[in-house]
Amino acid sequence: MPGLGTTLSWRATILRSSWCDRVGVRALSSDVAEALAGRLQSFGVGQEAGLHEPVFGGNEKAYLSECIDSGYVSSVGPFVGRFESELARFVGAPYVVAAVNGTAALHLALVALGVRPGDEVIVPALTFVATASAVALAGATPHFVDVSAKTWGMDAEALRLHLNTVGRRDGGTLVNRETKRPIRAIMPMHTLGFPFDAEGISAVAQDFGLSFVEDAAESLGSFSGDVHTGLIGDVGVFSFNGNKTITTGGGGALVTTNEEIALRLKHLSTTAKVPHRFEFDHDAVGYNYRMPNINAALGVAQLEQLPGLVERQRRLHEAYRSALEDLGIGVLKSETPLTKSNYWLHAFVLSRNLASERDNVLETCLNRGIPVRPLWKPLNNLVPYRLSPSTPAPTSTDLYSRTICLPSSASLVA
Ligand SMILES: *Cc1c(COP(=O)(O)O)cnc(C)c1O
Repeated sequence: MPGLGTTLSWRATILRSSWCDRVGVRALSSDVAEALAGRLQSFGVGQEAGLHEPVFGGNEKAYLSECIDSGYVSSVGPFVGRFESELARFVGAPYVVAAVNGTAALHLALVALGVRPGDEVIVPALTFVATASAVALAGATPHFVDVSAKTWGMDAEALRLHLNTVGRRDGGTLVNRETKRPIRAIMPMHTLGFPFDAEGISAVAQDFGLSFVEDAAESLGSFSGDVHTGLIGDVGVFSFNGNKTITTGGGGALVTTNEEIALRLKHLSTTAKVPHRFEFDHDAVGYNYRMPNINAALGVAQLEQLPGLVERQRRLHEAYRSALEDLGIGVLKSETPLTKSNYWLHAFVLSRNLASERDNVLETCLNRGIPVRPLWKPLNNLVPYRLSPSTPAPTSTDLYSRTICLPSSASLVA
C-alpha cells in the first residue's frame, strides 16, 4: 500500500486536507480513509450488506412452520415459555420475562421498579437513544453522565462525585438540588457488548439508594467476572432486534434474580390482568408488551446458535485487530480485564490526531459499499434532551468524534 506506514505521511495527508478545506475544495478521501477502506474491503462485505446482519443457520424455518401450523402465533403459545427458560439457562437467570422489544422492556423495568412521572433517572450520555426514550416514556427525565474511556460505560468514580455534589438526601430519597426532582434510578449500558464497571456502579446504586436497571440490550453473551450481564442490577434488559447478537425479528427480555419483581414484570407486561377463568379484571395500568409466540419460535432457534455466534464475533475481533492495527492509525476497542465481551459491534478508534478524518473514512467506506457507522451522537446534545440535566461529557464526545463502527455480521467469519 503506497504511502502508508509512517506517521510522517499521515501528517502530510492532514496538511493537504486542511489546505483543501481552506480553499473550499472538499478532499474526497484521504490516505487514512483509503487505507482503512482497502483493508476492510478484504473482508468481503457485500454491496448491499448491513452493519450487523442476522445469521439464520439452524432450526428457524422448522420452528416457524411448527408455530404457524399450531395456530398460536400471538401472545399465547409454548415457544414463549421455551424461549424464556432457555434464555434463563444461558444467562443463569432465575427469572426471565420475554417482551416485544428492548425499548418496551426498559420502560417496563423502570415502571416496575417505581420510577414515576417527575423523577430523574441517571443514564449515560453515550448510548443508543432508546435508553433515554424509555425514561421519557415513564414520564421521567434522563439525567446524563459521562462514560469512562476504559469501559465506555458509566464512570463510577465520576458518578459518585457528581451525585455527592448535585444530590441531597431527603429521607430515603436522593433529590437533585437544582431541579428539586427525585433521582430514583440508574440505568447504565454495556456499550457495544463491553461490560461496564459492575462493582463500582453497583456500589454507587447501593450507597445512594437507587433502583438499578441494566441496559444489557447489546450484551447477550457478555460477562463481568462470572456473572452474565443483566444480572448485575435489579433488572436487566436484552434486545433481540434484527441487528443484535441474536434476533427474534423484534423482541426483548427482562431478567432478574428477584421473584417478586419478576411477577410484577410479567403482570404489567400482560395488561395487568387478574387471573380468572372468564372475568376481565385489571388491577393496574398495564401494557401489551409480551413477546408473541411467532417471534419466540425464531428466538428458540437463534438461542441454539448463540455460543457459536459469539465465538465467531471473537474471531472477527482478532481478524480486525491484525488487519487494521498495524496501519498505525488507531486501535480496536477490546475487552477490559475480568470481563468477557460478546463483541456485538466492532469499533475502530482513530488516533486522536486523526479525529478530523472520521467523516472522510465514513464517506469513503460507504461509497464503496462497506457498511460503517459512527457512534451515537451523545444524547445530551439531542433536541428532546437539551434541557435535561447533564454533566459535561468530554469522554463521550471524544469517543463519538473518532470511532468507526465496523461491519459486524457474524457471517464475515467462518
Ligand atoms: C437496541 C438497543 C435498545 C432497544 O432495543 P429495541 O429492541 O430495538 O427496542 C436499547 N438500548 C440499547 C443500548 C440498544 O442498543
